[in-house]
Amino acid sequence: MNPEDFEKNINHFIKERKYKKSECLVPYTMRNKCKGKIVKAHTIPKMCLKKISQDGHLFGFIKGMIPEVNYNKLSESIDKKAIEPKKIGIKEASIFTGFCQKHDNELFKIIEKNYGNFNCKKEECFLYSYRTLCREFFLKKIAKDDLKYLINKTKDGIQEWLLLRSVGIEQSIKDLEYYKNTFDNILRNRDYKNFKSLIVLFDRIPSVMASGASIPIYDFGGNRFKEIENFNKVPDIIFYNIVSYGEKGYAIFAWVEDSNKSESVAKKFVQSLRNVADSKKTDAIISFLFASCENIYFSPYWWSKLSENKKNILSNIFYKVVSPIEDFPDFSKIYIDNCFDDWNFSGVSDI
Ligand SMILES: [Zn+2]
Repeated sequence: MNPEDFEKNINHFIKERKYKKSECLVPYTMRNKCKGKIVKAHTIPKMCLKKISQDGHLFGFIKGMIPEVNYNKLSESIDKKAIEPKKIGIKEASIFTGFCQKHDNELFKIIEKNYGNFNCKKEECFLYSYRTLCREFFLKKIAKDDLKYLINKTKDGIQEWLLLRSVGIEQSIKDLEYYKNTFDNILRNRDYKNFKSLIVLFDRIPSVMASGASIPIYDFGGNRFKEIENFNKVPDIIFYNIVSYGEKGYAIFAWVEDSNKSESVAKKFVQSLRNVADSKKTDAIISFLFASCENIYFSPYWWSKLSENKKNILSNIFYKVVSPIEDFPDFSKIYIDNCFDDWNFSGVSDI
């Protein structure tokens, strides 16, 4: 098979398989109540995305659900051109097929239907984080199946790289399974005592919106954690959602506090954000998002106003997230010297 045929085959396979993978991810005990077809659920509410769109489009890196990767070049690096932001229709931004119609409507009613009202309540922060977690879990399971398929179709350098990657994916699935069980229990019992969050409030609509979950690698002060290197324990994961209600912006950072742990990496990470000067909090968050999250969408107007140099800085740091050969980027290095935007920081709220 020549490279073009291989790529065509892979792309066809990717198109076919994502809808077959659809399932409702509510806790098993709730699945007998599923109703309606599996919907394309937005992880960032559509109404939020609409606010920063231009002619129904946003800028981002993922069209649909999966990052488009040129698989022929995996052994070298991902083609840099493939990670330049592209125009994406609102309907395709931040979606995943992880809930049935009924559960998508009912579960997220508070954050979706009460539009115009965000009350900084634990339940709201939890629902955002739950949906983020479900998306991550869903996509990692797809990635696992993809890798299995691809490993059988490849050889030499690409196959070795894919095998290494599949070890990482297996580990992530294990970690996310732990969080899925924990979050399912919180959802069923409405018991939020171990669920913590910090909301950074802004007086403007954020030009960048995102929904993601990451193991903290660097904090906002440039300190590196060892969380990802320890395979013997479940790592702390930070869930984050940057959204807007009315004319205001909310950056929601959430985590689960484990009373058996002596120190919480997630807590330290969030504390480092608190320590950032208020005037730099917007830049710090934008830098963190580009360095951590593929599920990120931004205003075409804002992007068009950035200098070429700043566009390059942000695209390059994003490239490190998706590149198989780059180390995790220290995002603290870029926000100190650059002003990307200012959403008018107005306070923080511990929930
Ligand atoms: Zn359902």
